[in-house]
Amino acid sequence: MEFTINGLVLSLGEGEELLRQRAASLLGVEREAVREVQVLRRSIDARRSRPPRFVYLVSCRLSDDCSPSLRGDVPGVTVTGEPDIPAPRRTAPSGGIVPRREHRPVVIGSGPAGLFAALTLARRGMPVLLLERGRAVPERLSDVRAFWDRGAFLPESHVHFGEGGAGTFSDGKLTTRVKNPYTGWVKQVMVEMGAPLDILADAHPHIGTDRLRAVVVNLRGRLAELGCEVRFGARVSDLLVRGGKILGVVVNAAEEIRTDGMVLACGQSADDTYRLLAGRGVALAPKPFAVGLRVEHPQELIDRIQYGRWAGHPGLPAAIYALTAKIAPLNRMVYSFCMCPGGRVIGSSAEEGGVVTNGMSDFLRDGPYANSAVVVNVGVEDLGGGGPLAGLAFRRQWEERAFRAGGGTYAAPAQRLTDFLAGRSGSPVGGCSFLPGVREAALEELLPPFVVAALKQGFAEFERKMPGFVTGEATLIGVETRTSSPVRILRGEDGQSVSTAGLFPCGEGAGYAGGIVSSALDGIRAAERMLAAWG
Ligand SMILES: Cc1cc2nc3c(=O)[nH]c(=O)nc-3n(C[C@H](O)[C@H](O)[C@H](O)COP(=O)(O)OP(=O)(O)OC[C@H]3O[C@@H](n4cnc5c(N)ncnc54)[C@H](O)[C@@H]3O)c2cc1C
Repeated sequence: MEFTINGLVLSLGEGEELLRQRAASLLGVEREAVREVQVLRRSIDARRSRPPRFVYLVSCRLSDDCSPSLRGDVPGVTVTGEPDIPAPRRTAPSGGIVPRREHRPVVIGSGPAGLFAALTLARRGMPVLLLERGRAVPERLSDVRAFWDRGAFLPESHVHFGEGGAGTFSDGKLTTRVKNPYTGWVKQVMVEMGAPLDILADAHPHIGTDRLRAVVVNLRGRLAELGCEVRFGARVSDLLVRGGKILGVVVNAAEEIRTDGMVLACGQSADDTYRLLAGRGVALAPKPFAVGLRVEHPQELIDRIQYGRWAGHPGLPAAIYALTAKIAPLNRMVYSFCMCPGGRVIGSSAEEGGVVTNGMSDFLRDGPYANSAVVVNVGVEDLGGGGPLAGLAFRRQWEERAFRAGGGTYAAPAQRLTDFLAGRSGSPVGGCSFLPGVREAALEELLPPFVVAALKQGFAEFERKMPGFVTGEATLIGVETRTSSPVRILRGEDGQSVSTAGLFPCGEGAGYAGGIVSSALDGIRAAERMLAAWG
């Protein structure tokens, strides 16, 4: 006998072992009659006005010989009997073996989209060749550390390029608004590869960069077992296209590899690859995106704002926030994005001579700072024409300005939030986690005026929604330009490029996904469509 209970509550300090007792009482049975309680979803209800509490959706398995008598009188709690039990959604893509082809499918990019496309193909018996321009996690880690320690930038190995793609150095948030039957499976695979079990139930799941690095290395092992070849330092430098059909790729301007099926999962930071696509006649279009700054607060301050007098309780995780402000007179949206509690702001340059900010956290999220991007939407009309790649030039110019303002060493320009709002510059910034270091600068000179104007109004609105947010303790660090792709690689209903048959663009770089999970899901979709096209 099984039931699901939605809205079961634990108070701060109560352990999950109490769930069994609470479930038994709701179902009107003895505690011993509850054989198993499985947490399907766990969220935190923190409304400042009352003590934070944890709210659960659980499934309970009862012994067959008990006779439950449900209590229907508990506000906020719903109990559903057997027929409606939502089984944990772990639907996997088909694993049925398909006939091999003359040439192996090629997947470009080992980010979430490329890895899950390769896994989907390899599970069907396709011996995939996965090409990644960057390096494997261990080597990449030392390259990125050298950049953060002393600004030693390597164009082919950085926060965006290399094993695991752009998410490897991240908070590893796994939230997505995409409704897809494979979402649970993606997380299940991550758990099998070493991600914490909590990600299957948490309403705001996250892995942390420390655990994510191991996950992607283990996933590579799984791919190898399934017959997939992964090559690092393999930059696709050209496409072989004839008569509107993909015939293969050129790697490192030296080696030709033939294929008639290619998943292109190159992320949003390979400007040279976008130029290559444009040069080979692949249909592209400009796409709206967003730019802005990173804001960093002491985590303790965010905890106080969000949890009130319960801040600091050991049972509470580092507090999060998500803020939006509609600036009607400017016709802009300002929103926080990719918030990293207990994390750090990191140098995420994607090209030489440019400064880009982003954020990451470890699984424990136990650092002293909280950071988030605060960005403003940029429309295609803001790019002033310039064709499908105009957004690349747009973001590049602000990244170069930030580089110069930081002193040309990959230090980032930074300013106290209150100084930015008051139009004051020259006072030193407070404590700040940014690697590889900051330099005080007037940030309003480093972004388009419409972005600056919207940000100023947006912060005022944030302060109204979250009093205490605007404070001299908060630091702004610039510039945040790579929240999503400014280019779309146009594809049809069948998943193929509308101009180039056999090419399946996917993931963030194709402009159809954003974030780790949605990119992974888009990779799965691309692989399935490729198999469908092959019949
Ligand atoms: C610092 C940081 C933190 C982030 N935090 C989060 C988070 O917490 N949660 C979240 O959901 N999202 C986060 N994101 C966004 C997330 O990482 C991306 O949305 C996701 O990685 C996109 O996946 P993808 O596979 O489409 O592309 P990518 O992950 O960008 O991977 C593309 C890969 O293709 C390779 N490549 C590019 N061109 C070529 C070529 N010509 N030849 C061969 N290989 C090539 C690149 O080297 C790269 O490894 C973060 C991003 C960054 C940078």
